[in-house]
Parts: sequence; C-alpha cells; structure tokens
Amino acid sequence: MKNKLIKEKIIDILLFVLDWTWCIPQTLAGTIKAKWGSGVLCKAKDASLAQIKQREKEWRVTILLFCRKSREEHWLFQKISGSGMGRNIFLYETEPDNGEIDDPETIKHEYGHILFSRITGPFFLPTVGIFSPMYNLIGRKKMKNGMTWPGMAKWYYSRWCERVADKLAKVDRKKWLEERGGK
Ligand SMILES: [Zn+2]
Repeated sequence: MKNKLIKEKIIDILLFVLDWTWCIPQTLAGTIKAKWGSGVLCKAKDASLAQIKQREKEWRVTILLFCRKSREEHWLFQKISGSGMGRNIFLYETEPDNGEIDDPETIKHEYGHILFSRITGPFFLPTVGIFSPMYNLIGRKKMKNGMTWPGMAKWYYSRWCERVADKLAKVDRKKWLEERGGK
C-alpha cells in the first residue's frame, strides 16, 4: 500500500515536471484557456461528477466543464469544441444546466490528445494544434453542405491527429460510430 502511494506520488511529480518543461507551450495554452473560460464553467452532477473525479486522479489532469448556454450565447464558443490541452481537458455540458458530460469514449479521446502532446512536446501545437481545429471547422462546413452527422463523424475521426488520439487512449471508434448510426 505504502509502495503504491510512493509510486503514485513519483508519477505525479514526473508528469508535473514533463508538462512544465517539454510540454510547456500546450500547458501554458491550456492554463490560459482555463483562466479565460473560468467565468462560464458549470458544476458536473452525479455520475458525471464521479467520472470526472476518477479520471482527474488517474490522468493527472483538471477537467473543466463549460456551460452549454455559453456556447449558445457567444460566437467564440460556437467555434470551439471539447479539447485536451496540457494539464486540462475541456468539455461541454450535453444540455443546458444538466451538469452532464459526454460519453466516456469522448472523454478518453481528449485524453488521447494529451498523451500525444506528452510524447511530441513542443511539436504538438504546430501540428495537432493547427490540424485538429482545422478539420473540426471543415467537418462543420461539410455538414452545412448537406453531409450527415454520422458521415462527418466518420470522416473527422479518421483524420490522422484524431486517429492517433483514439489509438493512444484505446477508443473503440468503430463501435462508437455504429452505436450512433454510422458504420
Ligand atoms: Zn480530437
């Protein structure tokens, strides 16, 4: 028991050092985003809260939940979706004021981006940091032009940076898509 605690503490310290040296660009960006969004956060409830608490401990991240309302009211939020950056994972409520987070696979996917960022360090933002939001915008455009949501989701999650995140976090995207009407 004691050995396990020591091991956990050592991992805590090593990841803290890694995040604030090798990964400092995205750690700083995530910290700034967390500060910037701190006025529009809401509290997770029940099972969602329990899941957040468990994941934060396991992954050594802070999970922030943005209010769905803020997304509907501010143009800037409409352009942004959930993300994983540095030591933070940003999620949106699924419905206004319900305090619920997305399905576990979606949360794991954001953690996959964090894992990839811990591997690639300073090369993360110039690559994934540019491509991931860009593919996100292209996906929304495709839907505006008549593509169905399952079709768009299939296209989006097969982009390289999304595929890497799924792989690292062991997300079963095929099953996830099937459950949502895609194939
Ligand atoms: Zn992603």
